Amino acid sequence: MSDQVPVLAASHVSRIYQEGPLKVSVLADVNLHVAAGERIAIVGASGSGKSTLLHLLGGLDAPSSGEIRVQGQLLSNLGEAARGALRNRALGFVYQFHHLLPEFTALENVMMPLLIRRLPGKEASARAAAMLDKVGLATRLQHKPGELSGGERQRAALARALVTEPACVLADEPTGNLDHATARRVFELMLELNASLNTSLVIVTHDREMARQTGRVLTLEDGQLLDTKETA
Ligand code: ADP
Ligand code: MG
Repeated sequence: MSDQVPVLAASHVSRIYQEGPLKVSVLADVNLHVAAGERIAIVGASGSGKSTLLHLLGGLDAPSSGEIRVQGQLLSNLGEAARGALRNRALGFVYQFHHLLPEFTALENVMMPLLIRRLPGKEASARAAAMLDKVGLATRLQHKPGELSGGERQRAALARALVTEPACVLADEPTGNLDHATARRVFELMLELNASLNTSLVIVTHDREMARQTGRVLTLEDGQLLDTKETA
């Protein structure tokens, strides 16, 4: 029954930015359903509104009109605290830049979302270590972000996004900052975790090959989200 509720649903969503007297319409009547375990790539030119859309889907920004539902719950009906709790429970975020906290070790960074959930420290630590092991960082638990390579930092960020076993991961150009080989590894890891945990993936990417591998590629163009026609 709960399987039939989309993990994420956007209906008739628009976002207009007011810049002084100027109104800039970035999204106009966007519709998107993300089913459990589904993998979706979103492509589009720079400035087409991809990050804006991910922020709306993740409840980090509110649409100018339309509705966003996370696991069936209408975000606009929730207060700040309830929205934060739903976000922490249901969603994981990965950004182009890792956003790890520089003062903390990899282990502490990955424990953070679990501590926010009020898991006891011991359990949080064990789960964080297990997830870091999955992303190949078992020997880097005590390293701080500054002591990790770019690819390792991005894998730690991925571990942090996945440690709560979210229903859906929203990733904004997660490999855009990495060399090709490292980018592939991080991407393949996301596919593996999608397969083993049934985590839905919504990935913004410029990489056509990665996009194709997700199975469903949508293009953001002129404020609309369109099914991509194969050009190859
Ligand atoms: P993308 O991620 O596809 O490159 P963005 O979603 O970041 O695009 O931005 C889409 C458009 O919205 C851009 O023209 C950008 O300048 C504008 N924009 C984004 N955020 C804001 C904001 N907070 N205020 C005003 N304009 C914004
Ligand atoms: Mg962007």
